[in-house]
Amino acid sequence: MDTEIYVRIYSDLAEIVIKQIISASLLYSLLLLGSTPAKAALDLTEGVESLIEVVLTGASKTMGKRANAKEIKWTWCDDTYYSPSSGLICFEKNFMNDLAKIGDAAVAFVVAHEYAHHVQFAQAQLVARAKNNTMRIELQADCFAGVILASIPNLSFNKKDVENMILAAALLGDKEYDHVQHHGAGENRALALRSGLRFGSTKGKIKDAYYKMFCLQK
Ligand SMILES: [Zn+2]
Repeated sequence: MDTEIYVRIYSDLAEIVIKQIISASLLYSLLLLGSTPAKAALDLTEGVESLIEVVLTGASKTMGKRANAKEIKWTWCDDTYYSPSSGLICFEKNFMNDLAKIGDAAVAFVVAHEYAHHVQFAQAQLVARAKNNTMRIELQADCFAGVILASIPNLSFNKKDVENMILAAALLGDKEYDHVQHHGAGENRALALRSGLRFGSTKGKIKDAYYKMFCLQK
């Protein structure tokens, strides 16, 4: 994305969407995640590739294990998507590098989102329940991504990481609202992710209204 446009979108969104979605209570519960000393913060110094590995390995050991999902494979492709038939996640290098400009947490969000599709297909009833509604599948994957990211034991978030994840979800919102493959508007994607992060990061397992709507599809 052109840097100038990116900076404008970033600041507009931060102003109109992100501040409303991120509440102090959400940040407080998420920041508690980083209170255990042995945890490494999200860190891109090793490059996008290693962050993909960290998130996929962590996701496999947490939600993937509970969902009985097969081992995941990933590769660089000309687009970013999950292929259910081959159990493979494709990442497009330029797209991932653009996300890295927002922050390492934005990369982690997209990796967790794609892994969430792997979980959905490992639990066939989740896909069946969505009744071919792409938006439901996508928003559930955003919510699951939040649960995954909040559950990986060796990852912790700072305030900026949380903001960047929510921002990435908002930026990746789909504006073709009437398209049959509509992925969900930015605000919905951000709220879905937020509810998953919140659920995954709180001891009391808060199931807020968006968690019920997007993760549980109730
Ligand atoms: Zn998706």
